Amino acid sequence: MGIIERFIEHPELGKKEYAELLQASESSEGRERLKKEALRLRRLYYGDTVYVRGLIEFTNYCKNDCFYCGIRHGNREAERYRLTKEEILSCCEAGYGLGFRTFVLQGGEDPWFTDGRMEEAVRSIKERYPDCAVTLSIGERSFESYRRLREAGADRYLLRHETASEEHYRKLHPAEMSLSHRKQCLYSLKELGYQVGAGIMVGSPGQTYEELAEDLIFLRELQPQMAGIGPFVPHHSTPFKDEPAGSVDLTLRLLSIIRILLPKVLLPATTALGTMDPLGREKGFAAGANVVMPNLSPAENRKQYELYDNKLCTGAEAAESLADLKKRVEAAGWKLSMERGDAAEEPLQEN
Ligand code: SAH
Repeated sequence: MGIIERFIEHPELGKKEYAELLQASESSEGRERLKKEALRLRRLYYGDTVYVRGLIEFTNYCKNDCFYCGIRHGNREAERYRLTKEEILSCCEAGYGLGFRTFVLQGGEDPWFTDGRMEEAVRSIKERYPDCAVTLSIGERSFESYRRLREAGADRYLLRHETASEEHYRKLHPAEMSLSHRKQCLYSLKELGYQVGAGIMVGSPGQTYEELAEDLIFLRELQPQMAGIGPFVPHHSTPFKDEPAGSVDLTLRLLSIIRILLPKVLLPATTALGTMDPLGREKGFAAGANVVMPNLSPAENRKQYELYDNKLCTGAEAAESLADLKKRVEAAGWKLSMERGDAAEEPLQEN
């Protein structure tokens, strides 16, 4: 039996085998087989539903200097902004009116947003919109901070691990950052009862199938409810400005593999995928993705939250164009759901 069939039957493989699986997924036969199984599982747990989240990028100040990221501290050209609590709330108000029931607050690691200020923002959103889920994506914080924010009402937390390989992590981050701390944060978040999202950039500089194999092993260990998997895209004022972008094709193969590895996972067709390929989102759904996160940030700030070059923030990426997005999702054969969309616990029907 080939490696692909072995993986489908028993997704728990070792590092060498995962690397072999990735190699085997290069053939069109291999990719199609993985896709087919990924779709079977996504339909089993989620039917044809695609969940939608409103993304509010509320600050692009960041104290970190990740080599890939356009809002890194060292990028003096970035025009910095931060939203007030009132501005965040009016994004939610607009989003709620459009039908959004999940708000994702994402930002750089901005020390201005102390635990107290973040708590206040989360509390106010939950008070006004108790039927909505609040997701935070604000980087590494202390256990105590995560505890307070959970207590304030935050339901979910996105913190991509970026790479599970120590050596690779050091190629992407300055010496003061550490993979072990990032992983520790993810375990703390899980312990506190958040629905947790980890994930990676596909094709980040120095990444090979061996690193990706470690990512798969880490995801299997962590068992996150969500996984953010998008291609790396260079940003013109970062140390990685001349590096090639990650491949859409490999991103799609990984989406299928992760759907098989973690059948109940919430898997977004990311903005980076849509940026690299005009049909990226549709291809993402066809590979196993079941979430989209259009942008609810104030229009004047969207350009400033520039993680990478040409990041999409209009058309189907813009929350106010929800009707467009709905049409596109439906044309691709899926149904856009405005429900809060927690991770599945059981298959939709006995089988
Ligand atoms: N500060 C938060 C949010 C980071 S931005 C945190 O640390 O989690 C969200 C994600 O964008 C990052 O986790 C990273 O995976 C992705 N990202 C950053 N720069 C990118 C680039 N150049 N190309 C593609 N994705 C990028």
